[in-house]
Amino acid sequence: MGLHTKCLIIGSGPAGYTAAIYTGRAGIVPVLYEGMEPGGQLTTTTEIENYPGFENGVDANLLMASMKAQAARFGADIRPGRIAEVDLSVRPFVLKDDSGNEIVAETVVIATGATAKYLGLPSEQKFRGLGVSACATCDGFFYRKKVVAVVGGGDTACEEATYLAQLCSKVYMIVRRDVFRASKAMQERVAATPNIEVLWNCNTQEVLGDDAGVTGVRILRKDGKVFDIKVDGFFLGIGHHPNSDLFREWVNTDANGYIITEAKSSRTNVEGVFAAGDVQDPDYRQAVTAAASGCRAALDVERFLKENVTK
Ligand code: NDP
Repeated sequence: MGLHTKCLIIGSGPAGYTAAIYTGRAGIVPVLYEGMEPGGQLTTTTEIENYPGFENGVDANLLMASMKAQAARFGADIRPGRIAEVDLSVRPFVLKDDSGNEIVAETVVIATGATAKYLGLPSEQKFRGLGVSACATCDGFFYRKKVVAVVGGGDTACEEATYLAQLCSKVYMIVRRDVFRASKAMQERVAATPNIEVLWNCNTQEVLGDDAGVTGVRILRKDGKVFDIKVDGFFLGIGHHPNSDLFREWVNTDANGYIITEAKSSRTNVEGVFAAGDVQDPDYRQAVTAAASGCRAALDVERFLKENVTK
């Protein structure tokens, strides 16, 4: 017989842990699976300076460890591993972890986050956290008055580039075609920003660097010309992939795979299944907004259990 829980939380980023803290304090004793990347996307960065309450910033791993400890303090049953099999057709829902253990859950909070897309170059992985980043709002501040490059031509890349242009002396945009994919408004913002230079028809061949981190980018233009630019930071802006694949058979998503939630709530189209954090948020994607949506999910779970589950 599998483990029975009133609330299964899948994911251990700010959304998952906040949902665990709130449901834990409400006496629900949630089970939380940490997933493939314990602590979530934040653990791929270093210092967080924009999470409220930390005047001098906070180490991302410490922040997540602290959220985990706080969730455990309120009784959350935190487990390593990932949920591998899901059946959301009838409640209570039956799920299995990657060791084959069965979990029977009255409610499920999907807080599996999103994963930034990378180009797939070995040099890009080598300098990850040493000048290579997929989050301008997280890491831009460390490149004040420096030169950076942003890859991509969509809204994310344009937003990152215009954000970075306020901090950096110069921003290159590396765009693989001769047009942007971004909305007209974002294109106009880029065009109106004098310290952004767009390198059209260009692909990144290699991220260059030394022991201290990124020093430049080797670029291959469509006409065959190879050239290097000197930069201190290299930002990916080629999109994110919401980690919703496991649930799509039951839960409605938008065209990009983001789980659709009802109005301001965390409710999905499946009664008793809630979604929080980046897996349902293509727009804000901040630790603090993820935490806030985890809180909403917990309150929605509490309400749902009161109305639907007596014991
Ligand atoms: P998009 O898929 O819209 O754009 C991705 C961009 O990256 C494209 O320019 C694409 O090039 C380029 N790209 C993809 N793969 C590679 C690669 N391997 N090498 C080089 N370039 C590559 O993703 P976004 O994250 O920008 O946007 C996703 C959705 O979120 C969109 O609907 C967008 O409108 C929305 N969004 C809205 C925002 C806002 O309104 N403020 C902010 C951010 C996102 P190509 O065009 O050639 O395919």
